[in-house]
Amino acid sequence: MPARVVAVVGYKSSGKTRVIEGLVRELTSRGHRVGTLKHATPHHLLDTPGRDTWRHREAGAEASAVIADGRAALFLDRPLTVAEALEILGPLDLVILEGFKSLDYIPRILLPRSPGELEELSNGLEIAVVAPQLLEGGEVEASLLGLDEVEELASLVEARALPLLPGLNCGRCGHESCRELAKAILMGEADASGCVYLWAGDVELLVDGRRVPLNPYVRGVFRGVLQGLINTLKGCEGIRRIEVRLEVEGDG
Ligand code: SF4
Repeated sequence: MPARVVAVVGYKSSGKTRVIEGLVRELTSRGHRVGTLKHATPHHLLDTPGRDTWRHREAGAEASAVIADGRAALFLDRPLTVAEALEILGPLDLVILEGFKSLDYIPRILLPRSPGELEELSNGLEIAVVAPQLLEGGEVEASLLGLDEVEELASLVEARALPLLPGLNCGRCGHESCRELAKAILMGEADASGCVYLWAGDVELLVDGRRVPLNPYVRGVFRGVLQGLINTLKGCEGIRRIEVRLEVEGDG
């Protein structure tokens, strides 16, 4: 089962990190495995100048990792998509995104500092607005909470976080965009299985480590062909899980 995600969005110094700290503490205390993912500006320093991993990359390494007992950090000189980052974060129940305002198909918690910001941040997928004093007469349909109402906010995340949709806006779910499907799910009119590309948990294709969305027809073909072939092999009776790795020759 893929992790479900929610984004905490607001402008600089709006309290996003404080809200996320509270959510992580509350959700982990309820038994969830929680991860976080932060969006940063291109100028944000990810590594510390002068440290070993920094010097390795200054010397030309495209990637470096540091591994310690029970912990690890990875530095890449290339961007990751949110889907790729979720793969790397590993098996989690919930992932809270800090920022990522432009991803318009993820349920969001808004932290506006003014009515104008509320209007800018709202896209119809807000599940809560943390700053109720700003909302007198506002038109946003979401729970209004104070910064310290962490338990209520955590319950909303438990109930309304969604698996990450692919963002392809292909319309094959009957909705014109991923955002429209997400909106229908939040309104109780659809569920995530409506997305024909979402990993259904039965067949998974990774190409160069990246999960490729499969529609039901292709999933069925992979399942039928692989199971059919492997069933003919001696010692492969009663299969429960198949993993195939294939090296493909490059052009060069
Ligand atoms: S089928 Fe999936 S990828 Fe296509 S618009 Fe619907 S939710 Fe988005």
